[in-house]
Amino acid sequence: MLEDRTCLVTGGSRGIGRAIATEFGRHGADVVVNYRSSEAAAEATAEAIDGTDGAAMTARADVSEYGAVEAMYEAVHDRFGPVDVVVNNAGITADRRFEEMTREDWDRVADINLGGTFNCTHCFFDDIREAEEGRLINISSVVGQQGNYGQANYATTKSGLFGFTRTIALEIASEGSTANCVAPGFVDTGMLETVPGRVREKIRRRIPLGRFARPEDVAGIVRFLASEDSSYMTGQILAVNGGLDW
Ligand code: NAP
Repeated sequence: MLEDRTCLVTGGSRGIGRAIATEFGRHGADVVVNYRSSEAAAEATAEAIDGTDGAAMTARADVSEYGAVEAMYEAVHDRFGPVDVVVNNAGITADRRFEEMTREDWDRVADINLGGTFNCTHCFFDDIREAEEGRLINISSVVGQQGNYGQANYATTKSGLFGFTRTIALEIASEGSTANCVAPGFVDTGMLETVPGRVREKIRRRIPLGRFARPEDVAGIVRFLASEDSSYMTGQILAVNGGLDW
């Protein structure tokens, strides 16, 4: 259970983040549902949580903007006080073969996937350290482990999270807090819908379990990491990918 825990989920309005936020709420947590533009979806996620054991607030902030994350920090503290768990989930793709990739494509993905992770971790760092068993959970990808055609920018940001997670794990260990990474395979969300159907089918055939992950397949693992059951696990990468090699 996550009673008495306050959890921030970035990109909690849709997809994997929504599943994580509702899973936390079902287990009694107070949940901050961060989003950038999908206000109605974020409100719907928060309403779903309010109907369970947990309470929820929405918090609009583009995680790539440090000032916006600082303002979110203030709003969260006003409503719930310090957070115990930060899940850096917000992420985007901008796929293109490398020879066609522009510096703008590179920066846009890096600013959100890595810059957003820096901003949220930095602003909430004292909360995580000072919490009783604070938790940092970063959502990476199998693409960070394998690479993927047309995703040089995305794959780089997702591998970057491995080094970041292991380093923060070392820096917060003396306080009894942990940092871990989850590396999902291909998950049935809006992000996967941007991949052409023919390519999607090719990917699906490579997955030993024969199907894409549901967001809930990832959320249960994240809930485990947020709970006291994972107390002695830190600096790790958990693959949730249907059996893909990496
Ligand atoms: P999604 O369905 O596209 O949802 C993305 C979420 O991130 C939305 O809630 C979106 O909020 C939020 N977001 C995007 N940019 C943001 C920003 N600048 N500031 C704040 N929030 C922002 O994606 P998903 O598939 O659930 O992916 C979630 C995470 O899992 C990502 O980090 C992704 O890389 C990772 N992942 C996904 C897959 C997959 O196959 N789907 C596989 C492995 C890893 P708004 O709608 O409000 O903009």
